Amino acid sequence: MSRKKRRRGKKLGKMLERLRRSLPKRHSLSPLGYIRLNIKYPIHFVLANIGHHRLVLFGHKVKMWSKRYENFAKNGIACAHCGIRGRYFCLERHCSNDERNAWHFNLYALDKDGKEVLMTKDHIIPKSKGGGNSIENLQTLCTICNEKKGNKIESVVLKRKGQEDERKKI
Ligand SMILES: [Zn+2]
Repeated sequence: MSRKKRRRGKKLGKMLERLRRSLPKRHSLSPLGYIRLNIKYPIHFVLANIGHHRLVLFGHKVKMWSKRYENFAKNGIACAHCGIRGRYFCLERHCSNDERNAWHFNLYALDKDGKEVLMTKDHIIPKSKGGGNSIENLQTLCTICNEKKGNKIESVVLKRKGQEDERKKI
C-alpha cells in the first residue's frame, strides 16, 4: 500500500471514529457505513406497516411507501438467484447530512459465516434496456447476486432480444 493511500485510510478511520463517538444512544455504524438504530425489526413488522403513511420510531420519521418495500412484499424476501433469505430489517440512513437522506428500512440476510448481506430490489430487464418500473419487472436479489448480474446483464438481455428478433423472422 502506498504512503498516500495509508494516510487516506488513517484519515477515514479517524473520521469514522469521530462519527461513531458522536452518535446518539442506541445508534451505531453498520458494516456498510450506514448510521443504524440498534434494533432488528422483524420482517412481518415492516411488511405489515407498508402504506402511504409515516412511522415515528425513536423520534425518526420513516416513510413507509416505496417500490423497494412493495417488491419485498409482493416478490418475497429471498434472493431470486441464490435463495438466501432476508432475516430482519434495520432502520438506517446514510451518514452524510443531506436533507434528502432519510431514515429507511434495509433488509439483511446472513451468509454462512454470519456476515450481513444487504438485499436489494432489481430490475429484471434494466431500465437502460427499456425495462419498466412495474412490480412484474422487479425481483429481490442479494447484493452479491446483483453485482454478478450487473456484469452479465448485457449478454442476458441481448440473448433475449435475439430470441425476439428470431421470432419476428418466423
Ligand atoms: Zn443471491
